[in-house]
Amino acid sequence: MNSILNTFSPLSKDLYNEYRGQVMVEALATQKVLVIGAGGLGCEILKTLALSGIKEIHVIDLDTIDLTNLNRQFLFRMKDVGKYKAEVAAEFIMKRIPTCKVIPYTKKIQEFPISFYQEFPVIIAGLDNVEARRWINRVVIQMVQRDENDKVIDDTRHYLIDGGTEGLNGQARVISPFETACYECTLSQLPKQLQYQMCTIASTPRLPEHCIAYAYEILWSKEQPNVKLDKDNFEHMNWIYQKALERSKQFNIDGVTYKLTLGVVKNIIPAVASTNALIASICTVECFKILTGNGSQLNNYIQWYGQNHQTGVGINVIQQERLEECTECSIQTLEILVKRTDKLSVLLTQLPPDIELCSKGQTLITNNIRRKQGFDHILEKTFQELIDEQLIDEKTALKAFDKNKTINVRINYE
Ligand SMILES: [Zn+2]
Repeated sequence: MNSILNTFSPLSKDLYNEYRGQVMVEALATQKVLVIGAGGLGCEILKTLALSGIKEIHVIDLDTIDLTNLNRQFLFRMKDVGKYKAEVAAEFIMKRIPTCKVIPYTKKIQEFPISFYQEFPVIIAGLDNVEARRWINRVVIQMVQRDENDKVIDDTRHYLIDGGTEGLNGQARVISPFETACYECTLSQLPKQLQYQMCTIASTPRLPEHCIAYAYEILWSKEQPNVKLDKDNFEHMNWIYQKALERSKQFNIDGVTYKLTLGVVKNIIPAVASTNALIASICTVECFKILTGNGSQLNNYIQWYGQNHQTGVGINVIQQERLEECTECSIQTLEILVKRTDKLSVLLTQLPPDIELCSKGQTLITNNIRRKQGFDHILEKTFQELIDEQLIDEKTALKAFDKNKTINVRINYE
């Protein structure tokens, strides 16, 4: 897109700017965006995308609307409680902005084929769990294709923008596969959940949280050995609360309430609408930059602290490092030593199972039963024959794909 704009540079600035504006509007109007999650963050993202000129949005969320969502998930009303978030959100946006088409899905993200995700240059995720993030991260990595020189084919790159909030704090990142760190690269940096020392809980409680943790972690299994604790069951939670209260009185600790009990047991951090709005707007601005080719992208991670001990608020932008041994986005190279007179079939024992080995874009070995037939004659060829017939190139590494990643297979000749 930039190249089209450059051809206008000799023209007047006004005309150039007008054209540039048109190109941007068109870029927004002709591309589809996928939003995963129609909760607190999702509502904000959908609204901002639609009001900014995106004409087709797809949204996935399998959750239904709960009464407690209504304070911040502003696309939902009391009458919508119990209905699917994705469907109600889509209906609301289309009613308010008729030029925007929103297509809802109420399935798990894992139930869609890769071809579905391939339609979207940008996927914005407003998810609330690590597993779903890891899954969609893998999808954007899998969609990338490479040319014979192992270079990423740019057109096949899909971007993942991932936002998240926790109370007054939030973060957003842009994942450009094989360019930035992926989600998996940074998994070890996830903050550990707040945990209390067991000995403190059992013998020297000092905080109301310690008393609640005692009732939850120790007393429940001791006194109700055959009942599985249901965190959404009022009677169960009230039992924990009453036991925690007794214990707090024993140790002269104030502050045990039913609300705090829910917070400790469910590890709840209150959702703050303004944090969602802030993070959603960062996500959508990054989406516009990618779709229009204007401006440079966030590289690649931003943290927002609505609460900071020293300065009150804080903001931090860092470039996350790619992990060399990342199981998703590192390119593993396998070195194999053979004789030129060996048959290709010697590789069968040296490659991991369930793999497809390719050379010059053609399959040489596959474990796919349906496709297996027809490869026997190639397996019987020697490496020298394969080189002579130009089926493999002596200097270029072969590519092996398994379900999860690409492996470079470098053949060395004795
Ligand atoms: Zn990675």
